[in-house]
Amino acid sequence: MSEKPICELCGEPMPEGEEMFKFHGYSGSCPKEPLPRPKTELETLRERLAAIRAAIDEIVVSEGEDAGVILLPSDSPTHFSELAKCRVYDFENFSPLGDALVALAKLAKEKS
Ligand SMILES: [Zn+2]
Repeated sequence: MSEKPICELCGEPMPEGEEMFKFHGYSGSCPKEPLPRPKTELETLRERLAAIRAAIDEIVVSEGEDAGVILLPSDSPTHFSELAKCRVYDFENFSPLGDALVALAKLAKEKS
């Protein structure tokens, strides 16, 4: 092996004479903070759920006296496009509500 062995916990090179070990501990503890570990699937899913909740809160009031009030307009205004030579919708998915719902759907479908 040509690469210098490093500690699997902190990423620092292993001291001379300890290259055969996987991590510090023989001559002393790791000199550095542990390496950041990859997120678990549960953490990833929890983060996505939080993002979905936040996206829903932008669209509709879901609790309290105002529950059910839609916060975004469903109007589909248009403007004339010189490029397309016709009237086109102002919003990619027809309305602010359409845009927000499509974004929410993408968030829910996202692969982890
Ligand atoms: Zn270490």
